[in-house]
Amino acid sequence: MELLKTKIQTDGQVLNDSLLKVDSFLNHQLDPQLMFKMGQEFAKRFQGEAITKVVTIEASGIAVAVMTGLALNVPVVFARKKKSVVTTDDLYCTRVYSFTKKESNDIIVDRRFLHASDKVLIIDDFLANGEAALGLANIVHQAGASVTGIGIVIEKSFQPGAGKLKQAGYRVESLAKIASFSNGKVNFL
Ligand code: 5GP
Repeated sequence: MELLKTKIQTDGQVLNDSLLKVDSFLNHQLDPQLMFKMGQEFAKRFQGEAITKVVTIEASGIAVAVMTGLALNVPVVFARKKKSVVTTDDLYCTRVYSFTKKESNDIIVDRRFLHASDKVLIIDDFLANGEAALGLANIVHQAGASVTGIGIVIEKSFQPGAGKLKQAGYRVESLAKIASFSNGKVNFL
């Protein structure tokens, strides 16, 4: 998606050889027009797949997932990283290793929001080692539902995640694919 690539080139900061900072439009401050257009793009790519639910993980996946749900006219569920006082115990749960925090955490989804009949589109902001997406897929499968596809905003194709997801049989659609970072610059595939 050219608009996203331009935004990454102009506003993204390469922090090291594997980490990109895009907190001015995706991970902290949000660009609503861009989020809206990315939601439409995911909806276009998965049109005709009879998706019934979009599933993401808090926090950075939520904005683009909501826009995708809006475009597909289906509900959006986000996996939580922490239980709250109002969370029930009737949960799907799996452990996910965080690429940015370098620690493992349980992620949870209330059983009321996923059903065996659901055809799920998983959405996330970044794809690195695939841990977050595989964790979400695990939760979808615990519900007996199916994963129709995985939509990623920024895929770092030089890391193993995309290969792992495809090997596991998932259709992966990424809006920007990064081949490498060099001298502070982003090189797209
Ligand atoms: P994975 O689970 O695929 O290893 O990593 C994906 C998750 O780690 C995403 O949900 C995202 O929050 C975070 N992440 C991975 N790579 C980057 C990156 O280069 N920049 C930022 N800001 N987050 C990343």
